Amino acid sequence: MAKGRPMISEGDLKLDESLKKIKHVVIVISGKGGVGKSTVSSNLAMAFAMKGLRTGLMDVDIHGPNIPKMLGLEDAHMMIENDKLVPVDAAHGLKVMSMAFLLPEKDAPVAWRGPIKMGAIRQFIEDVAWGDLDHLVVDMPPGTGDEALSIIQLIPKADGMVVVTTPQDVALLDSRKSIVFGASVKIPIIGIVENMSGFVCPHCGERVDIFKTGGGENTATEMGVPFLGRIPIEPGIVTSSDSGIPVVISSPDSESAKAFIDIADKVIRTVG
Ligand code: ADP
Repeated sequence: MAKGRPMISEGDLKLDESLKKIKHVVIVISGKGGVGKSTVSSNLAMAFAMKGLRTGLMDVDIHGPNIPKMLGLEDAHMMIENDKLVPVDAAHGLKVMSMAFLLPEKDAPVAWRGPIKMGAIRQFIEDVAWGDLDHLVVDMPPGTGDEALSIIQLIPKADGMVVVTTPQDVALLDSRKSIVFGASVKIPIIGIVENMSGFVCPHCGERVDIFKTGGGENTATEMGVPFLGRIPIEPGIVTSSDSGIPVVISSPDSESAKAFIDIADKVIRTVG
């Protein structure tokens, strides 16, 4: 091997092969769990698909693979064709792949140790027959630790990252870490989404900023990255994701659905 040239393993070739027909890869991360990362990933991917873009959604949140539930695919079974995993079709032709499809028992926690876990994730990323896609949205595990780092290194073609945060100071502190993380792995930050940003009382119409508001935008300005928009707290988001129909389909006129669609447009404009 020539000096200085990186060794290319069989795995790298397979990975390259499986990502070759994907035009754009958008990674969705958050500094911590529970801020709405999977909600944003699923609504963003569905908004792309509703625009007629060939879209895939890959759920690598191995400890909380909630995407199948949010898209009504809980009972879906994985097919294998030509030694490749075939993604499951959701509404509007969205192709979905989740670690949850591979787990024998849906409610069982994943207790794999480091190397086994990474081997499974690698195989999962390499062995999916995505076919031709305009966009692949990747729902990452929460946080910016070793696990996120190892996964990011398996997805060499990423165009950029969407950072999901909530407006409290503690969450914003974590989202700053996500931005620093993006810089360390040399993936551009597409922008910050501020989720759970204010609540409008359905009875009196008064707006209450339960977790404050505006912090995501301030963080974006401070860190020199774009701000993509705010998603309000809406009970409809919980009922729609619990019933397996993302809010962009179930209530397209709601404030949150409009915000998701606007954010999807901005992401498309950024990645091309
Ligand atoms: P994460 O992926 O960051 O752990 P989830 O997307 O699973 O977070 O969301 C956690 C919970 O919060 C879910 O029950 C989801 O329906 C709810 N949720 C997310 N965003 C909102 C919102 N804007 N308004 C109301 N509930 C929300």
